[in-house]
Amino acid sequence: MRVALRSEGRLKKALAFGPRDVRLVDLAPRTPGPGEVRARMLMTTLTTANVRLYTGPLMADVQYPVTLSYTGVAEVAEVGRGVTRVRPGDLVYPNFYRACLRCRFCRADRMVACEQVPLGAHNMMIGEAYESALQSEIVLGEERMNLVPAGTPLEAAAMTGFFSVAMQAIVAVEPDDRDPLFVNGAGPIGWCATQLAKLHGSRVVIAEVLPARMERARQFGADVVIDARQPDARQQVVEACGGAPLKIVEATGTAEGSALAFDVAGRGARIAAVGVSQHPITQTFIVLKGLRIDGIGGAIRVPEVIRLIAEGKIDISASITHRFPLARLVDALELKRTSPEAELVAVYIDEARLPGARPDASGG
Ligand SMILES: [Zn+2]
Repeated sequence: MRVALRSEGRLKKALAFGPRDVRLVDLAPRTPGPGEVRARMLMTTLTTANVRLYTGPLMADVQYPVTLSYTGVAEVAEVGRGVTRVRPGDLVYPNFYRACLRCRFCRADRMVACEQVPLGAHNMMIGEAYESALQSEIVLGEERMNLVPAGTPLEAAAMTGFFSVAMQAIVAVEPDDRDPLFVNGAGPIGWCATQLAKLHGSRVVIAEVLPARMERARQFGADVVIDARQPDARQQVVEACGGAPLKIVEATGTAEGSALAFDVAGRGARIAAVGVSQHPITQTFIVLKGLRIDGIGGAIRVPEVIRLIAEGKIDISASITHRFPLARLVDALELKRTSPEAELVAVYIDEARLPGARPDASGG
């Protein structure tokens, strides 16, 4: 499939008006107000969650039309009065969370618990009224523009969102060089959790169902990679961990994956549960096992994550397997929808920055 999206204006914004109905709409030029920053979006990567917005059905309180991406790298174009943290030309990683950044939880770096976001509402800026990573320019308050050191590769910086969610999981389970960490699910969050745990000297055992993702997990530092499709996967996890694991990051986002993670968990285990699945867990089960469970759903320690990326200590951008210009966003979404083996798919809003090695952007 080869679909070219067109729009008349210089400034564009991608919106889905219904399942698999993506259009570029014109965006009016804007001037940043006091404390605000105008930035040009450079590139983003599409996640499984983004594809779910594209295909529907929509979850939580989200309604069409919807924006399709909330991670990416931008370049500051203009700053409003009173802005001191960034200057034109700076690279930034914008914060597209709906969290208010002002309540006591936000100020304590716990956006997942923001008091201003209704319980059950989607935690990201999704919807026509919001800024999006898939639009030419954004205007946000300077507190939402995380400075990225000059010289940081764009694609590495674009991984900040994954790492800062994985960081919340890592802070919850506190990996160390004594107990191995069991990471369930070798998607972007699983890879990021692996790399962050390795910085703490932890041994990492990871389980996954997709072979390409297993291979990436090895490349990104996992010590033992278990094929979760095997009937004895639970037993393999326990053996590889030298006993029932006591530190677990559940990052599959599926009911089957969640069941595996909670079943193998040892008594007194700490579990970081990333994403949402329909796996029912009873209070009895939690009490009998003495589990300590943290719900993971927001970025934390973003400046620290960006520093680690800029220093080259963490990087999963090698998993970007395909790159597209914004005009071919539909092709990018379709590729991600139809090929489970496609890993991260990048979309360049600033098409001039698309790496020249693949002028056709056909990937593969
Ligand atoms: Zn808040």
